[in-house]
Amino acid sequence: MSKAHKLDCEAAEADCRFIIQSENESEALELAKTHMKDVHGKEFSDDELRAEHLQVV
Ligand SMILES: [Zn+2]
Repeated sequence: MSKAHKLDCEAAEADCRFIIQSENESEALELAKTHMKDVHGKEFSDDELRAEHLQVV
């Protein structure tokens, strides 16, 4: 089974139910960055997202 990269926004932002899941890490990071910026007004680098929010499932 291939691995997927997942970001569960609820872990970062308590009232948000947004979940990103992709087998492509760069796509997951891109979607996560756009969501964090557009919805939460926060800018994250790829490294921050990878270290703090992105899970491999
Ligand atoms: Zn969110």
